[in-house]
Amino acid sequence: MTQGNSCAVARSVADLRARVRDWRAAGLTVALVPTMGALHAGHMSLVRLALTKADRVVVSVFVNPTQFGPNEDFSAYPRQPEQDSAAIAAAGGHLVYLPTVEEMYPAGASTMVEVSGVSSGLCGDARPGHFRGVATIVTKLLLQALPDVAVFGEKDFQQLMVIRRLVRDLDIPVEIIGAPIVREADGLAMSSRNAYLSAEERPVAARIHAILTGTAAALAQGKPVAAACSDAATALLASGFRSVDYLELRDAETLAPVTELTRPARLFVAAFLGRTRLIDNVDVRPAGA
Ligand code: AMP
Repeated sequence: MTQGNSCAVARSVADLRARVRDWRAAGLTVALVPTMGALHAGHMSLVRLALTKADRVVVSVFVNPTQFGPNEDFSAYPRQPEQDSAAIAAAGGHLVYLPTVEEMYPAGASTMVEVSGVSSGLCGDARPGHFRGVATIVTKLLLQALPDVAVFGEKDFQQLMVIRRLVRDLDIPVEIIGAPIVREADGLAMSSRNAYLSAEERPVAARIHAILTGTAAALAQGKPVAAACSDAATALLASGFRSVDYLELRDAETLAPVTELTRPARLFVAAFLGRTRLIDNVDVRPAGA
């Protein structure tokens, strides 16, 4: 990271809109990359992708309270706005949007965005209200910045589907771009929550990807879906995971449950390692597809 690198910062909707208005007046296109900060190489890949899609890139950093459950890690979630701003500047981002909770949810705010269907099952069941919070904040960010494109990671695959659906259903004029999962050398999907893992837990966490890819290969070779998923959950518990929220094969487009692998699918997992909830997903295709 370049020493002293800094990036323009907007802290209010008015600041953000003023910047975007100037860019628009100059005929420039705009990309938005929404994040909750504690940025890592996965987030940076989104910024780099955004730079190839638009002239100016806004990265929002906002730990959104409405997407956390009452017993989740909202207050413990890592916050490092200065480091994040420097990393965004070093990657070539043009503006960091750092709104406060009061700016995003002014007193009396009483409208939420609810996306049915794709929000059900998987994290939707394991984290009630989570996607309502995500859909609401992403709708607000899109309406505040009105970008041409917005980039989201496949790390949160169900979230990406929820956002594609809300943009379509609410006629928000933005192109949603999905970015592949960036992983550590041992396969662990990068995540701000990996910082919660202890030195003992860290190598165990990598098992999640090894087990998913092994299961994807077995499924491609014809292993029955129910047996493959239950064996994978058992393998996670045997590796040291405390509990498995879900381990399921779903249709890659509709997220409908898949009981037989006849078309492209996605294998999803959420599991607790100690106190840390990890999620991951991999592509699964029938052999020859
Ligand atoms: P978060 O800060 O965790 O809310 O993530 C912000 C955006 O970065 C979301 O679109 C995530 O899907 C994406 N993201 C997080 N981790 C990764 C990763 N390892 N690879 C690709 N995208 C990621």
